[in-house]
Amino acid sequence: MTGFALRTPGSPARPRTWTNWAGDQRCTPSAVATPATVGEVAWLVRRAAESGGTVKAIGAGHSFTGIGLTDGVHVHLDHLAGLQAVDRATGWVTFAAGTRLRDVPALLAPYGLAMANLGDIDSQSIAGAISTGTHGTGVAFGGIATQVRALTLVTGGGDVVHCSATEHPDLFHAARVGLGAMGIIVAVTLACVPAFGLHAVERPEPLNEVLAGYHDRIRATDHFEFYWFPHTSTALTKSNTRYAPGAAPARPLSPAARLVDDVLVANTLYSGLCAATNRLPAAIPGVNRMAAQLTGNREFADASHRVFTTRRTVRFREMEYAVPLEVLTEVLAELRAMIDRRRYTVSFPVEVRCAAADDIPLSTANGRKTGYIAIHQYWRTDPFEYFHSAEEIFAEYGGRPHWGKWHFQTSESLGKLYPEFEKFCSVRHSADPAGVFRNDYLDRVLAPQAVD
Ligand SMILES: Cc1cc2nc3c(=O)[nH]c(=O)nc-3n(C[C@H](O)[C@H](O)[C@H](O)COP(=O)(O)OP(=O)(O)OC[C@H]3O[C@@H](n4cnc5c(N)ncnc54)[C@H](O)[C@@H]3O)c2cc1C
Repeated sequence: MTGFALRTPGSPARPRTWTNWAGDQRCTPSAVATPATVGEVAWLVRRAAESGGTVKAIGAGHSFTGIGLTDGVHVHLDHLAGLQAVDRATGWVTFAAGTRLRDVPALLAPYGLAMANLGDIDSQSIAGAISTGTHGTGVAFGGIATQVRALTLVTGGGDVVHCSATEHPDLFHAARVGLGAMGIIVAVTLACVPAFGLHAVERPEPLNEVLAGYHDRIRATDHFEFYWFPHTSTALTKSNTRYAPGAAPARPLSPAARLVDDVLVANTLYSGLCAATNRLPAAIPGVNRMAAQLTGNREFADASHRVFTTRRTVRFREMEYAVPLEVLTEVLAELRAMIDRRRYTVSFPVEVRCAAADDIPLSTANGRKTGYIAIHQYWRTDPFEYFHSAEEIFAEYGGRPHWGKWHFQTSESLGKLYPEFEKFCSVRHSADPAGVFRNDYLDRVLAPQAVD
């Protein structure tokens, strides 16, 4: 491999700016690369290491933080996508790292397999999703990174390294939620499960009743979550129960119902309401009461990926914290009291989910059963006073921020939240001694790297 053309975005006089999905994280990379082979990725990294430059892999740009920003080479892996290998006996499937989650169901369909759990959307790349600890809900289910069984990375010297629980285990252990700091992931092996359906029941319910029965419900239902609309006492609950294909008739939402509920009400109408209330915050409590009535009263059954994920077209900014599961309802009560006390007007619902404990060093669920509380604001509304106030509460309870969502913590505070933080930093140093993958976000959350 002698190298391939690097595209300099825009003209030298007017370099092209990259922005994330929410539109508020921007950078001007020195060049953009779209490698189609592992050799090209290795060449890019080697070239950067030799010249003292930096490279940053980017997936779908769906992180709210500056985790994917760079003024070096931005490496888009869209051409490194697709299924590479399937082990029918174990259900382990290897994907090229740039594969989008939305493409996975069709790739797995011929083998009768599915991903064990998913988050709310499927726009992300597999590598991007695992690198920030993306998760869904279900007290017996871990985040997407817990499905990873092997990784192939290009590390800081341009070496291609395959790692798993038995091969380079320290690197594997850390790189499953690696924040993009360990190398450029070029392939991911996931433990998939036999395809399954989900029976979904979505209902508006009194928030206090949901909180009182919360711990029973998360144990009784495979995937339970709820949305609470601030300024109301209503929670929209979502209870998804798994079934084997054929064990129950599929009762999918009709395309018309999906269009009305998920696109027109949840996105289009909601977008209009958010735009209006952004100019008239006093209307938010009334609008929230209306939104709580309009959405979430339906029952259906469908293939897992169609139930787990929905489309999100209304742009927003988000902070999400992971707290010990046993204090989840207490933290939510404090958040609710704080919103009232400080008279914040919050147009977006608070999302509450849970996950099993895992052993991944920088997973937000490391070592503890976890409750997640996600807060949002419409993208045109300044969220920062609200986010800072909420973060104070989350921090009091040992909350760990989602790596891809707004937070204001630094390595100093984060180091105390993760028992294996130091070890992660030392594995990072071995994998990337020259700091090829560093950026400002990593300097903040992992501390500036001592470069060899
Ligand atoms: C509308 C919306 C809904 C969301 N829903 C959820 C949810 O339900 N649950 C949840 O937990 N999160 C959720 N998120 C957050 C999102 O899943 C994460 O931020 C995720 O990282 C985005 O994936 P991506 O492909 O866009 O990654 P990017 O944002 O592009 O990149 C994230 C990080 O991964 C690194 N990276 C990307 N590719 C590679 C690679 N090949 N090798 C090494 N590092 C790489 C980047 O360098 C960066 O550090 C949501 C975000 C949005 C905007």
